[in-house]
Amino acid sequence: MGKVEHTIDGSAGEGGGQILRTALALSLVTGEAFRIRNIRAGRRRPGLLRQHLTAVRAAIDVGQAAADGAEMGSTELVFRPTRIQPGAHRFAVGTAGSATLVLQTVLPALLTAHAPSTLILEGGTHNPFAPPFDFLDRTFLPLINRMGPTVSATLERHGFYPAGGGRFTVAIEPTAKLSPLELLDRGEIVHRRGRALVAALPLAVGERELDALQGRLSWPRECLAVENLDARCGPGNALLVEVGSAAITEVFAGFGERGMLAETVAETVTNEVKAYLAADVPVGVHLADQLLLPLALAGGGAFRTMPLSRHSLTNVEVLRDWLDCAIRLEKADNRTVEVTVG
Ligand code: AMP
Repeated sequence: MGKVEHTIDGSAGEGGGQILRTALALSLVTGEAFRIRNIRAGRRRPGLLRQHLTAVRAAIDVGQAAADGAEMGSTELVFRPTRIQPGAHRFAVGTAGSATLVLQTVLPALLTAHAPSTLILEGGTHNPFAPPFDFLDRTFLPLINRMGPTVSATLERHGFYPAGGGRFTVAIEPTAKLSPLELLDRGEIVHRRGRALVAALPLAVGERELDALQGRLSWPRECLAVENLDARCGPGNALLVEVGSAAITEVFAGFGERGMLAETVAETVTNEVKAYLAADVPVGVHLADQLLLPLALAGGGAFRTMPLSRHSLTNVEVLRDWLDCAIRLEKADNRTVEVTVG
């Protein structure tokens, strides 16, 4: 076996699935092998769960890779990619685990592959602690498209926890090299939208979420709507809030669960929206950690965001080490950080 270029401690920083996905994505892009130990050591159930294992298998498939330790519960993995295989792929988590996070793992390498790809992803599409499909579609991919490739995503069926069963497709027209992206000013807010998705639950759940949201944000009722989904994808409930400005559309999400009041779901989301509006920056907390890798691959770019999450700080460390790329973090004030890559 050839040498392993990078050794990663999975318990470092945020200590969850993020560092594993970032390492897999970087390994695919650079063709460099890595070993990761202490996978998800910071979590209640450490090691590879179904969703992470699906990400590893997706990376094996896309990178024609050899791997040791790609098993449920594994806390150590060695991953050796050979060459990128664009084209048709299907990745199914098999539980309600997030399918959008599986995409996060393989997308970077396919953005600059030698041919287009079409992906089918199955599993959860609207999960807590993961990007909801709408964030991918409205926030993340439009920015990636500004960097050169053309990527579009189509939701075929919602997948909520615990039933799963969601499905979306992604079409990727690659580019030779990603271009840098700058997101420094948000500009004026040009649209606001709140959607309460309800599947196999009373519509009143969605109505109450929107009432609470309206009470806290004072947005006009016309921009709020309940969407009654096919009961077969239920039970499920998500509250999705979109804030569009000249520079960007940000999507914030809250998820209903058994025993949680609709008003609590609305309160959690509106707190995030209010913090974002008050910070007067284009890039929200979750987008920040997800933009770092594409910008580092482009070799340049900058954005203004809110104080960095541990996910972001972990990504910064891994990217600096692996790509030897300069990432500068400058605190403008208590609410704003400017991130400059390259
Ligand atoms: P981990 O906790 O390590 O599994 O990583 C979760 C990933 O999902 C990170 O990239 C987060 O930025 C992202 N994420 C979590 N919640 C949201 C959300 N509401 N919107 C967008 N991305 C999210």
